[in-house]
Amino acid sequence: MENLIKGNLLVLSGPSGCGKNTVLDALMAKDDAICQTVSATTRAARVGERNGVDYYFLSEKDFLHRVENDEFVEYVKYANRYYGTLKSEIDSNLNSGKTVVMVIEVNGAQNIKRLYPQAKTIFLMPPSPDLLRDRILGRGEMDAEELDRRLSIAMKEMEKKDDYDFIVINDELDKAVEDVYKIINL
Ligand code: 5GP
Repeated sequence: MENLIKGNLLVLSGPSGCGKNTVLDALMAKDDAICQTVSATTRAARVGERNGVDYYFLSEKDFLHRVENDEFVEYVKYANRYYGTLKSEIDSNLNSGKTVVMVIEVNGAQNIKRLYPQAKTIFLMPPSPDLLRDRILGRGEMDAEELDRRLSIAMKEMEKKDDYDFIVINDELDKAVEDVYKIINL
């Protein structure tokens, strides 16, 4: 069923390490009418990440219980962990007329576009694939297996970039933020 919305819904995807969250933080600092959905995940929190701010960190049991209760608008398994957007995260913000940005991976993006055809989808590309490895590694706390898994997902994700409404290259942060901001205001 198609959802009717008052606000602007924006889906931002891109390979792990391409700078999606940095772009989003800059957008929110620029304009109070832009907010983000906080996803739920079963992965462990990284150093500095806060529950309820960066993610809702849930046990797998709790996550799957919420799936059964139909609390998610979409969810996926990514790198062996669950990630999903709770319905409550989208509806309240959109109804207040805000621009809601979801930073989610490619399968979730497709699901959202099906449910909310008015949503604008943007794929953020790194200037070069080589940079991804360094950026992903720069987050620390990742074993070689996890790094390989994320890099191979990233390569597959980049093959899906043409399914998006817009592609933005994150070569220079300010320029990428400006490009996304223009798309929001189209
Ligand atoms: P990370 O573990 O690096 O925070 O996130 C891994 C991937 O999961 C990223 O591409 C991120 O955008 C995506 N992701 C985060 N939250 C959600 C969500 O709620 N739904 C979906 N489909 N993907 C998500």
